Order: sequence, then C-alpha cells, then structure tokens
Amino acid sequence: MSEANFDFDVIVIGAGYGGFDAAKHAAEHGLNVAITESRDMGGTCVNRGCVPSKALLAASGRVRELANAEHLASFGIHASPVRFERQKIADHANNLVETIRTNLTKTLERAGVTILRGKGRLEGVQRVGVRQFNGVDKVFTAKDVIVATGSDPFVPPGIETDGRTVFTSDEAINLEWLPKWIAIIGSGYIGLEFADIYTALGCEVTLIEALDRVMPTFDPDLTKIAKRNLIDGRDIDARAGVLASKVSPGCPVRIDLSDVKTREVVEKLEVDAVLVATGRVPTSKELNLESAGVETIRGFIPIDDQMRVIANEKPIANLWAVGDVTGKLMLAHAAAAQGTIAVENILGKSSQIDYRSIPAATFTHPEISSVGLSEKEAKTLASNENFEVGIIRSYFKANSKALAELDSDGLMKLLFRKDNGEVLGAHIYGLHAADLIQEVANAVARRQSVIQLAYEVHTHPTLSEVVEVAYKQAYKQVCGS
Ligand SMILES: Cc1cc2nc3c(=O)[nH]c(=O)nc-3n(C[C@H](O)[C@H](O)[C@H](O)COP(=O)(O)OP(=O)(O)OC[C@H]3O[C@@H](n4cnc5c(N)ncnc54)[C@H](O)[C@@H]3O)c2cc1C
Repeated sequence: MSEANFDFDVIVIGAGYGGFDAAKHAAEHGLNVAITESRDMGGTCVNRGCVPSKALLAASGRVRELANAEHLASFGIHASPVRFERQKIADHANNLVETIRTNLTKTLERAGVTILRGKGRLEGVQRVGVRQFNGVDKVFTAKDVIVATGSDPFVPPGIETDGRTVFTSDEAINLEWLPKWIAIIGSGYIGLEFADIYTALGCEVTLIEALDRVMPTFDPDLTKIAKRNLIDGRDIDARAGVLASKVSPGCPVRIDLSDVKTREVVEKLEVDAVLVATGRVPTSKELNLESAGVETIRGFIPIDDQMRVIANEKPIANLWAVGDVTGKLMLAHAAAAQGTIAVENILGKSSQIDYRSIPAATFTHPEISSVGLSEKEAKTLASNENFEVGIIRSYFKANSKALAELDSDGLMKLLFRKDNGEVLGAHIYGLHAADLIQEVANAVARRQSVIQLAYEVHTHPTLSEVVEVAYKQAYKQVCGS
C-alpha cells in the first residue's frame, strides 16, 4: 500500500542493473514500486554488455586455448586443428541474454513490482510521465522517484555508423559476421575485450588509440606486461596518438587517421569493419529533467553519496539517480550498489556509497582488475595527508598454481600506507585476476591493514597466494620483519 495520495511509493525509470536492484530492494522492503523500461528489461549489462560479451569471451577463449598448439604441446597434448561455428557462439550469447532477462523480469514480478513498458520522463518532482508501448501516455505520482536510465555508446564526430560495417558494442555482441580485418577504435576495457574475442576467432585487428599510449586507463606497470601478451603477442597492430577523424562505412570501410595535435591526416586505412569503442554517454536527454530543476553536467545527473540528485549544491527532495547516468563508476555492480543505497535512504536508513572499494575487471585472457586508488592517486593522498605509499609487486611466476597451468605471466601491484599498513588499492594482471581482486576489495571496504591481512591463511596451491605474498611483503615494509 503506497502513502496517501500517491500512485506508488517509488517509481524507477530504467530497468538496467541499477533500476532492477533499486526496484527489487524497495519491493522486498514492503514499498509499492513501479519500474518503467523503454527497451529491454535488464538494460545494457544483460542485453548489450556484460552478459553477452562474457559469453562470447568464454567461447572464444576456449577456441584460443585449443588453437594454441605450442601451449598444449607443453602439457604433452596434441589436439586436431580447432573448428568453430560462429553462429553457435553467437547463439550461446543470445540464449544466455534471453535466460537472464527472463529471470530478472520474473524476479521483479514475484517481488510485486509493477512493470510499465514505455518511455518515462519527469513531470516535476514526484511525477513521472510514461508513454507506454500501447500509445497511452499517463502521468503517475510517487513519493520517491529514482532515475536509472543508464548510458549509450559514444560515437565521436566524423565517424558514421551503419550497424553492419561500422558499429558499436551494441551490434558487436551479436557477432553477425567475422571481418578478416577489423579496426577497433579505443583501447579501454570494451575495445580490449572485443580485440580478445576477434583475434581468438582469427580476425586481424588494428587498435586505434587517441591518447599517447594504448590501454591509457590501466596501471602503467601492468600495461607493460599485459600489452606484451594481449596486444604484441597477437594479430594486433596498435597505434597510439592518432585520431580516427573520419570513418565511412561500406566495403571497404575507409578511415582517416589524423595526428592528435596537428589534426593533419597522417594515414588512410581500408578495412573490412570498424568497432567504435570510444566510451559511453549518459541517457538523460529526453527525461525532462528541467521540470524538476535538475541541471546535468555533460549529460550526467549530479548526485551525492546517498544518491540524492543535487541542484544548486542542495539535494532535491524525493529525487534520486543511480547507475551510468550519474557517471560515477560505469559498471553494473556499481549501479546495483547505488540502487540499493538509494532505497536504503528512502527507507530512512542513512547509507552512503564507498566508491574506493568497488572493483573493476577486464575479462581478457588473462584478465585485468583493479580496486581502490591508482598509484598516482595514492601518492597525491599521501602528500596531502603526510604519509608514505608502500608499493609491492607480487609475480605470478612464483605461484605454483600458475606454473602448473603454464600460465604464469602476471603481476599484482599492491598499494598501502607505510605508516599503518592500510590497503589503498591493488592492480592485477594475470590468470583469474577478476576473481582475485575481490579479496582486496573486501579489505579496502573494511580499511584493513596488511598487519592483520598478512596472517590470513590462503589455500595452497591457489592463485590467491599471489595476494598472500603481496600482503606478507607489505607487512615487512610496515613492521620491519
Ligand atoms: C560491451 C559492454 C561490456 C560490459 N561489461 C561489463 C562487465 O563485464 N562488468 C560490469 O560491471 N559492467 C560492464 N559493462 C557496463 C554495464 O553494462 C553498465 O555499467 C550497466 O549496465 C549500467 O547499469 P544502469 O542500470 O546504470 O544502466 P543500463 O544498463 O544502461 O540500463 C538503463 C535502462 O534504462 C532504460 N531507459 C533509458 N531511458 C529510459 C526512459 N526514458 N524510460 C524508460 N527506460 C529508459 C534503457 O533502455 C536501459 O534498459 C559493460 C558495458 C558494455 C557496453
């Protein structure tokens, strides 16, 4: 039952991971909730992001493993040449999307959430207009409104997409065809994951990065090792410091590469396809945010750590925003955490997010992960707060499990305070790095010290001993023995 005079206690706009978690959490706590979705239930992650891309990475990763005759021979294994069916790999991803989308929708229905299929917008504070798929346009009232409209791929000016020869990750996840030669614009995590998929399936890749080094968002020490394996060791030609200033779809696709500084065209390429992986923009344009007095910043909705929407440096009562549209950490689990926190605050329990403890992963083979501060951020904090940063490098080469797998190219970099041992961050490249980071994320969440962590027993032989070794070495720097 909703509060008097409102149709609902909470209306959530957008059913991605952020909106889903918010709606589910609110309904499970007895609130009368509606969620509106204009495309597919589950949003980017389920339909066009994490889920299908990880399914493609799982299948293509196996192809890579089985095609690596030299690696297999080191185990004494000699397999026949590997064959794969592109359509069946694509089907695996599509089926998984379907299953997860259905489960997620059923979960909301079971929790008693009203699903309004249509495009939502604000009509002032505590009012949401919904243009439903059946053409009906209706305004609903709610005590609290949560905006969770996510993001869309960013396509820079000069690049024309046709969805077939020049496309974004929205289309790439369908794996409709395998171009012989594909240029991937952007070497962030989406560009890298697709470079992993395409090279495993036999495509030649040109990786184009506008900043002065490839993988610019990753820790520089990790990048040195990762690049050797993920880029130099594969059929990838990487170019940094050049801008794909013009891309024209067709057969072939024509690309003008320009010098970033002078903007002069320095090279022209003709390739079979182009994947544009140049970041994402918030989906906030058609939300009528002005009606509630919200001013976006480059399209992102400003929020505080309780997820309250901020205008003129003050929270707008009963209006919340979560997920990619807030531009904080554009990751599914961050969106979900924000959704839960918004609802906790609606329920009157004061709850704040801790972005420092939210990990991130790139699911290449091997994986890359991180949590907490970068080395640069840690050093800035250290000079502001007058402490010294400790840095430990723990190598997979010394790990029995990694050696048994014949996959020991990897590094963990641990950052901590030398005065009290508090873990500030970690960056890992190597086998199962995405799983390994969670242990450090938990330590960061609790602001734990290596003084305590160094004594925690890890299973032998596991990759987690890479983390154990790092904690133990850090302990020596803090305690001296
Ligand atoms: C290729 C790719 C791979 C990724 N891999 C990972 C990964 O491995 N791990 C990870 O953590 N993250 C990953 N991400 C990022 C992740 O998908 C996003 O961070 C996450 O989906 C954000 O969730 P959200 O709820 O904020 O928004 P979204 O998932 O974008 O959902 C927003 C929803 O709102 C709907 N909507 C928009 N406007 C309206 C409106 N006016 N009315 C009604 N509905 C509306 C949209 O249709 C959409 O369904 C990946 C992204 C991509 C593109």
